[in-house]
Amino acid sequence: MEKTFLMVKPDGVQRGLIGEIVKRFEQKGFQLIGGKLTMVTRAQAEFHYAEHEGKDFYERLVNFITSGPVFAMVWQGDQVIALSRTLIGKTNSLEAAPGTIRGDYAVHTNFNLIHGSDSPESAEREIGNFFQADELITYNKVVQQWI
Ligand code: GDP
Ligand code: MG
Repeated sequence: MEKTFLMVKPDGVQRGLIGEIVKRFEQKGFQLIGGKLTMVTRAQAEFHYAEHEGKDFYERLVNFITSGPVFAMVWQGDQVIALSRTLIGKTNSLEAAPGTIRGDYAVHTNFNLIHGSDSPESAEREIGNFFQADELITYNKVVQQWI
């Protein structure tokens, strides 16, 4: 089963949206297998956003993601990577559709509330950047056969 790394960014934590965001992934039918409130270190932020190094928004992005606590999570499910991106909505806040997390709650692209991995390779890197193997718990959910 596929895994993805999701993170409520500092703006989402400050705005009290952890519960709302977690609820959407639970209701979709995905399974939470790890989660913690944590501060992102500069090194973790640079590793996480390495693909954006050199872009004009990079410094601001690293400063933002390290500016306050985040809620880091690992979720599991069939096609959880692509489907999470659909629930999250487009990066550009002007394009994020109503009904998506960003479309419903984000005004500016710089404060777009949540991160979600964009590929299996990214998910593996990002999970390893925030979680030790023993922090992830695999367990059976009897409802899984209905999802
Ligand atoms: P994501 O995967 O949808 O989060 O988007 P990206 O991986 O492309 O970018 C990472 C984060 O950098 C985004 O969530 C935005 O907060 C920010 N970002 C990306 N592209 C831009 C941009 O063109 N302008 C600004 N201001 N921020 C951006
Ligand atoms: Mg991305």
